[in-house]
Amino acid sequence: MPDWIVIGGGITGLALSYELQKAGCSVLLIEQHQQLQGSSSLGYGGISYWGATTAITRILSEEGITRQRNLSNELGMDTEFRELDLLLTLEPEADSQAIFAQYTHCAIAPTLLDAKEAHEREPLLNTQGISGALQFPHAHLNLDCFVEACTIAFQRLGGKVIYAKVENLLISGDRITGVSTTEGNFQAAQVCVCAGGMSRTLLKASGINARIYFTHAEAIETEPVDLELRAMVMPASTKRYSLEAATTDAEKDRLWDIKGQELLPPSIDAGAIQFRDRHVRFGQLSRVLTDPYAVIDPVESEANIRASVSQILPKVGELKGKWRHCLVAFSNDSLPLIGAVKEYENLHLFSGFTSPTVYALPLAQRFAAHVTGKPDEIIQLLSPNRFL
Ligand SMILES: Cc1cc2nc3c(=O)[nH]c(=O)nc-3n(C[C@H](O)[C@H](O)[C@H](O)COP(=O)(O)OP(=O)(O)OC[C@H]3O[C@@H](n4cnc5c(N)ncnc54)[C@H](O)[C@@H]3O)c2cc1C
Repeated sequence: MPDWIVIGGGITGLALSYELQKAGCSVLLIEQHQQLQGSSSLGYGGISYWGATTAITRILSEEGITRQRNLSNELGMDTEFRELDLLLTLEPEADSQAIFAQYTHCAIAPTLLDAKEAHEREPLLNTQGISGALQFPHAHLNLDCFVEACTIAFQRLGGKVIYAKVENLLISGDRITGVSTTEGNFQAAQVCVCAGGMSRTLLKASGINARIYFTHAEAIETEPVDLELRAMVMPASTKRYSLEAATTDAEKDRLWDIKGQELLPPSIDAGAIQFRDRHVRFGQLSRVLTDPYAVIDPVESEANIRASVSQILPKVGELKGKWRHCLVAFSNDSLPLIGAVKEYENLHLFSGFTSPTVYALPLAQRFAAHVTGKPDEIIQLLSPNRFL
């Protein structure tokens, strides 16, 4: 019997499995899809290490970017890590100074560029569609490479992976004894849920309440293309974050348990990233639908994403590509939920990251240390029970 079962093989579950195994625990990772379909297969992979605004997030950002810079060496496989510009675009009518001021409390302050300067940094930008941009030193990795490299490194350390859908948690008295899956039952001393946007539903099926939520995210993925997008491009006023904050206060929490609710209208944050093999991902449309299985009309969505992206990056908005959809987990205070749930001391959550590319690895390492005898103050602060 393994010490730990980790449910979910996206970047959070893999980071955690790898760190637990490295810390001397035996881990069984259970992922439902051999070819990932969750947000780790659609995310841009931007590493916002500049974005910390508190003492704790500054410590974690430092640890996170240091890990990412050395990760290819550590894992023995290339994660396609690189440093690049991030350009956060400003709308034509935006109050540039006011938006700039909102970012000056970040660990690294941005440079304010006018439209012409932004265009010099990223020639695909449409100077008519923006009034300028905030430029940050950013970093990027290919999440597909991370998933592959981390899976192999985890298995090399003795970790086991099985591909099966967890249907239920097995409960005996006040303890979780394991999980029931499409491939049979598995027992472990500890279970950790890293199921991304499905974490809430999975816990709820066993009567467990956690303040973890999800958006439906949509983006378009192209084949490798001739054009070259030098920078990662995102909007300076990210609608997704305000939408997350507006739908998750204690009052609204109960609405998430009513199927079929749309808690806010959809919103689009026009952005794009190009990968080393020259394929591009662009999007992102976000919806707050309480049904994780809600059916979305891809035709209308794709047209809306293209229209938005074309205003900022006209040539990108025209690229042929495939519409894709996934769920993205988030919390009410943009910090992840890490640790045991109130109901069972051996059932843990490690999910709800807003910037998992920065925070997942250092927090996985701290969590592994914490549960193997080196108490960690930051892990204690991130307990899912902080909202009770
Ligand atoms: C368009 C887009 C752009 C983004 N850009 C960035 C960015 O630049 N930087 C950044 O840091 N983040 C970004 N994100 C967010 C980031 O990609 C996600 O937060 C991250 O990938 C989440 O990882 P995860 O492991 O929590 O979830 P997931 O990748 O969704 O993994 C959860 C896994 O759990 C599995 N699972 C669920 N239920 C079960 C079950 N019952 N049994 C077995 N397995 C189960 C799923 O199959 C899935 O593989 C972006 C997201 C999107 C959609």
